[in-house]
Formats: sequence, structure tokens, C-alpha cells
Amino acid sequence: MSKQQNGRTVKIFRYDPEVGGEGHFDEYVLDIKNENTTTILDVLLRIQKEQDPTLAFRYACRVNMCGSCGMVINGREGLACKTNVSHIPKGWVITIRPLNHFPIIKDLVVDLGPFFNSFERLLPYYEPKMEYKEPAVILPDSRERVDIGMDTDCIWCGCCVSSCDMVHLKRDYAGPAPLTRAFTLLKDSRDGLFQERLERAVESCYHCRTEFNCTEVCPKQISGTRAIKYIQRMAAQHLSGKVPSHKRLPDPAEPAHIDCDAHNDQSEAQPQSCSCFKDHDDPLPAGMSRRNFLNFAIMGAVGVGTATVLGGLALQTFAAPSMIETEKRWVPLIKLGDLQKNTIQTQMLSYIRKNGPYTTNTTVPVLISTLGPEIICFNSSCTHLGCIVKWDPVGDRFRCACHGGTFDKNGAVLDGPPPRPLDRFNTKVDGEYLMVEVV
Ligand code: SF4
Repeated sequence: MSKQQNGRTVKIFRYDPEVGGEGHFDEYVLDIKNENTTTILDVLLRIQKEQDPTLAFRYACRVNMCGSCGMVINGREGLACKTNVSHIPKGWVITIRPLNHFPIIKDLVVDLGPFFNSFERLLPYYEPKMEYKEPAVILPDSRERVDIGMDTDCIWCGCCVSSCDMVHLKRDYAGPAPLTRAFTLLKDSRDGLFQERLERAVESCYHCRTEFNCTEVCPKQISGTRAIKYIQRMAAQHLSGKVPSHKRLPDPAEPAHIDCDAHNDQSEAQPQSCSCFKDHDDPLPAGMSRRNFLNFAIMGAVGVGTATVLGGLALQTFAAPSMIETEKRWVPLIKLGDLQKNTIQTQMLSYIRKNGPYTTNTTVPVLISTLGPEIICFNSSCTHLGCIVKWDPVGDRFRCACHGGTFDKNGAVLDGPPPRPLDRFNTKVDGEYLMVEVV
């Protein structure tokens, strides 16, 4: 990574469809006063405004919600509006290029059409079972809801797909985000397309090599890898014996054989031993060539090593979710002495969130109400799309700024799109602390 001493140098990938070619990087220098409060999106906007009005990039909400500004920043996928300049060490050049694996329209703008087509192939919409009678009651702490976790927060930014090598190598691989979407619907007990959705999804899951790149880069902390392993587990439970292996789609990118003298050269003189995947009637002849012997020996050793590593990974990611029960714990929220009376206050709750084999440091605002005789702790995530709700003391209601949802002081929906009341934490008093139950 190249370095510089003064100011910030920003290298941006440029591609003009009218010129064509491979594209190139243009360099800009920018004075940035406060790097902690300047995002990469701010940088792009300033360059477009102050230096180069032809620079093309996509954005909309600026607050990590629309998923429009996904790009590769210093080699790692992320949202331009969520990445601060200070995330890139001082003195480093900032390098910005478009998402991988997508056709480039212009500069940093890519064609997300193939991405949305992948979603479409996996039936991304909810189709209720015919016999189902609304309203459904799926409690926030039910196993079904807990397993889905944050996967419904996906904003379709494409960062995970860009980070995944297998999307590039396997043309029929839907990729992490579409499979995550499929998982959220497969886990929904009201899903009327379960069988068809599962059959379509599991075909794609075969291509996942558990690289965890998608999990690493997702700006919403969603683990596509986990969703994929869950789908495979569901398939093992529900499709066992029902999906014949020939249903797997042919993969044009997969080589037909590893290295095969017998098939590369059709001459009679070639020995019939080979390490390819084609069937041979004859067993290996005694006169095996040294080259093929080494091929067998090396491939065998690599195979055993790979199987051991993949077996370990599979055990962790595939079996672990089924073996590890989601664990509930009590964590301290606030000292009783710090509670304010007859009001609703916001308190940040920090804890380590566990989900199967994965752990994440989580900090979430909790809304504590002392308006009534009992203390109520509301989850501040709006039950519509998970935006943060705030207490409006003047309007005497909770408000979700994004989509106009409002809730009364007991968390009941007053208006807007939220489908259910605000979620509540279980609480208890332990010594001088108010405790809440988390997963
Ligand atoms: Fe973006 Fe994460 Fe959804 Fe992938 S899973 S599209 S990275 S929000």
C-alpha cells in the first residue's frame, strides 16, 4: 500500500462506456479537516463538486439503509456512507473501485441486474400457505425468529456478493445475499413455497466453500455463510433422498478433469491410467507412468488434507448450529440509582451476542420506561425495518423517523407500517443493577 505524508490522496477507478477499454485510476488530492466525521461518500461528493463533475457513483439515503453506495474501498467491500476516512490509516492512499463481479456501467456505478436476477431465481417473495389464517403470532424470542436473527436486515447492497470468489467461478451460484433472503423465508413457518424454495436454494449452496468473506464485509453484520449452512441443514432434514444428484446444474466453469494424459491425447500409445473424473473400465495398469503416480500420490495427500480442513469447517458451520442451543443470558443494563423517575430514558446496552458458533460485540440503545408502576425496557429497533425509534416527550409517543411509524408509551402501534408493538426485554433486578435478558 503506497503512503503519503500530507493531505489525502484518493485514487478512483474510472470507466467511460463511450471510450471503452479496461478503465484506469484517476488521482485526486483533498484536504480533509475532520477524518472522523467525513465519510467516503462525502469524499466522493466533494471531488465531484470541487474537482471533477464527470465522476459517477450511486447513493441515496446516506445513512446505511438503502444499500446503493456499496463499493470496494482499499480492497474491502463496504458502504461509502458508512466508511469514515479515519478508518483508513493516516498517510495511506484511499483507493476506491466498483464492486467486483458486476458489469460496470460508468466509473463506480455497476449493473446490479444479475444480482437481482439471482434473487428472483430463489423466489424472494413471501407466499402464505393457503390454510394460514392471519394474524400470525411469531414471538420475538421464539426459536424460529431467533434463528432468522438479523438476516432480514439485508439492504441488498451487493457487498457480500462482490467479496465472494465463488460467485466469480460458478456462474450459476446465486451468492450470499439471495441465499440469505431465501433462508429468512424458509425459516418462516408460514412459507407456502417451502419445498420449491428449498430445492432451488440448496442447488446453489453446493458452491459455497465457507470462505466467510461475505460474513466479514457485510455492513449489516449478517452472516451469509451461516444462512447457507442453515439451508444445507434444512435440506438434509427435509430433502433427504428427494433431490437426485443429477438435478445439480452443470457447471461450465468446473474442469472436466484434473490432468489427464489419457484423455488429452487420444493416441493408442498413451497409458490408460489417469486422475480424471471419467469412468474407466480397466483398473490401473502395472506400468503406471511416474507422472501419473505422482499425480495420484499428491492428489491423495491433498484430498486427505482438504477433507480434514473442510470437515472441521463443516462441523463448525453446518453441525454447530444444530448442536448449540441459542443461549439466553442476563446482562446488566443500568444501576438502579441512575434510573430517572416518570420518564423514558435511553440507555446503551453492550454485550457479546452469540448465535451458534458466531459472536459479535453488540451495542444497542434500550428505551427504559418508568412512567408506570413497573419498569419496562423496550427494544429500540422498529418492528418494521429495524430503524431506531426514539421517545418524543412532546408528542407522548415513540417515533420511527424513517417510515413514519409511531407507538404509544406502552409500545403499541399508533400508526405507520410497523406490523406489531415494540419488542420488550425481560427484566429483573439483581443487587444494584437492572438486568435484561439477551440472546
Ligand atoms: Fe449487503 Fe449484507 Fe445484504 Fe450482502 S447480506 S447484500 S453485504 S446487507
